[in-house]
Amino acid sequence: VISIGQPEHSVVTTCAYCGVGCSFKAEMRGEEVVRMVPWKDGQANRGHSCVKGRFAYGYSTHQDRILNPMIRAKISDPWREVTWDEAFAHIATEFKRLQYQYGRDSIGGITSSRCTNEETYLVQKLVRAGFGNNNVDTCARVCHSPTGYGLGQAFGTSAGTQNFDSVEHSDVVIVIGANPTDGHPVFGSRLKKRLRQGAKLIVIDPRRIDLVRTPHVEASYHLPLKPGTNVAMMTALAHVIVTEGLFDETFIRERCDWSEFEDWAAFVAEPQHSPEETEKYTGVPADLVRGAARLFAKGGNGAIYYGLGVTEHSQGSTTVMAIANLAMVTGNIGRPGVGVNPLRGQNNVQGSCDMGSFPHELPGYRHISDDATRDIFEKLWGVKLANEPGLRIPNMLDAAVDGSFKGLYIQGEDILQSDPDTKHVAAGLAAMECVVVHDLFLNETANYAHVFLPGSTFLEKDGTFTNAERRINRVRKVMTPRNGYGDWEVTQKMAQAMGLDWHYAHPSEIMDEIAATTPSFALVSYDYLEKVGSVQWPCNEKTPLGSPIMHVDGFVRGKGKFIRTEYVATDERTGPRFPLLLTTGRILSQYNVGAQTRRTENVVWHAEDRLEIHPHDAEQRGIRDGDWVRLSSRSGDTTLRALITDRVAPGVVYTTFHHPDTQANVITTDYSDWATNCPEYKVTAVQVSPSNGP
Ligand code: SF4
Repeated sequence: VISIGQPEHSVVTTCAYCGVGCSFKAEMRGEEVVRMVPWKDGQANRGHSCVKGRFAYGYSTHQDRILNPMIRAKISDPWREVTWDEAFAHIATEFKRLQYQYGRDSIGGITSSRCTNEETYLVQKLVRAGFGNNNVDTCARVCHSPTGYGLGQAFGTSAGTQNFDSVEHSDVVIVIGANPTDGHPVFGSRLKKRLRQGAKLIVIDPRRIDLVRTPHVEASYHLPLKPGTNVAMMTALAHVIVTEGLFDETFIRERCDWSEFEDWAAFVAEPQHSPEETEKYTGVPADLVRGAARLFAKGGNGAIYYGLGVTEHSQGSTTVMAIANLAMVTGNIGRPGVGVNPLRGQNNVQGSCDMGSFPHELPGYRHISDDATRDIFEKLWGVKLANEPGLRIPNMLDAAVDGSFKGLYIQGEDILQSDPDTKHVAAGLAAMECVVVHDLFLNETANYAHVFLPGSTFLEKDGTFTNAERRINRVRKVMTPRNGYGDWEVTQKMAQAMGLDWHYAHPSEIMDEIAATTPSFALVSYDYLEKVGSVQWPCNEKTPLGSPIMHVDGFVRGKGKFIRTEYVATDERTGPRFPLLLTTGRILSQYNVGAQTRRTENVVWHAEDRLEIHPHDAEQRGIRDGDWVRLSSRSGDTTLRALITDRVAPGVVYTTFHHPDTQANVITTDYSDWATNCPEYKVTAVQVSPSNGP
């Protein structure tokens, strides 16, 4: 709720929506936010913001927030309010019972990209040190896990290579599978500014996103590829660069393994990877692909920005590696204006990955099987750690359905709405004996919970978020937690109830532990952040002022690795019953499944999800603009209104997924990335037909 009173004091903190990580001055009257003012000294946003960060904070005081812990014996029982101590004792008893009855590996935890680094670190520590297994995963599983795998293979680290300032030095930019105008608005504005100054733009996207043509900005090339053909497109671009001799031999000889390059170059030069051949899959005219490849190779500093339109595919990791290949073959790594830049969706998806949220990695991306790394944590935590990777979220759900996985602690994540194959998620949750949901609201997942622990909002927290450019930003407590505890305190009290000797007095002590155990954070502390404002990791003895740009003198892995990227068509195929391909995205004013933005008292947020359909496809089906339509796939069906537009090509339909009623994940398939299990949300064969409404 926006107050009209005058502020009495202010606190600088960080936006809790997207991965840009804008800094705000929260102007306060007592415990009430008077207004959020974009902070002029914010190093990620420099005084700019979008509508979400500036206005959509009312959810913090929304009546839907649950403020007291609740338990119930069965999910069909009504909730019963209990004290915090009763809730913690109940969880400890249940989790211990499950491990006694079904084995050590029968329980696990899920961290959240919405929570702070410190909170995330504690959840993975609870699982590893308290549960005694590595069954910890993160909601990044369903968004940027292919970035982690793909960039890790090519460069040695999953981090984006640049800072946001870098775009001011770009001469040509590829945007693939991302819509910065809506998804990352403050970065989108900086990109548009650079384009207005004359930088060239290549958009690779099935949909004509805003950047393709907007006032004073026009892309040089829009490659409207068929959903699911990213790898074929990236390999075709590389084919042109290699066969026309446009590669940067000096860079490749100095920074990469030349024999690996030769092997890869021979692969991409094969005739089946030519634009003329790949046009058969991608649907993009070969001359456009050739023109775009020449522009990127010869146009000066070339940068690539990408989003979930790259990662949420069965070949998500392969596409990330193909993007890395394209950057290396053109020498576009290691200086301002270039690089490979994943646009992270959530405020702390980078941080949640950094903090050891994956079942195979300890904080700092070190494999759990590495004896020396385990030794560091074992000595500090006083426990013996399991050395085998644990279960990913989909594996936890499979194991639950099979009867071997029984208990789950979920912090800040609505897996029933966010994860693929809703029916399977529900079946997995229903099969467990103790599901603990720790969140702001009774979300859809909470329908299957036995314990509900109230969470706190970003306005009630101390901690840090790490944005898409690896910038560690302070989050400062603006108001007292309405539920009584910060999320880190809740996890600590759960750990204490389970017998762990944890005594953190403040999140700064958790950060001190992170710094002591994680080389890329070695010099990070709250005192240091007060001095410098924010810092981009790695921040250690070698780089005390942080690292705005990665791989300046050499790749983290030593030599950059060229990797063959064979295009394999997704198993999701169109046919007579489902002749159209559905892909999805976001709008500016809503955020993901809308849990926060829908709970802001402002009617402008309440735009509904629409199904974009090409005029030709609409006419064939007798659909008029605004009509209700039924959207069906092999997985399920839903109903929404049609928006007739040539932003999408014939054969492609598109919707956003902000409203629970849309149930986009009832439609999507259970196919996933071969390397990481990231779900293939961006390609679903569908049919659209007239409907009388829901
Ligand atoms: Fe900045 Fe993103 Fe927040 Fe908008 S949503 S204010 S761009 S961090």
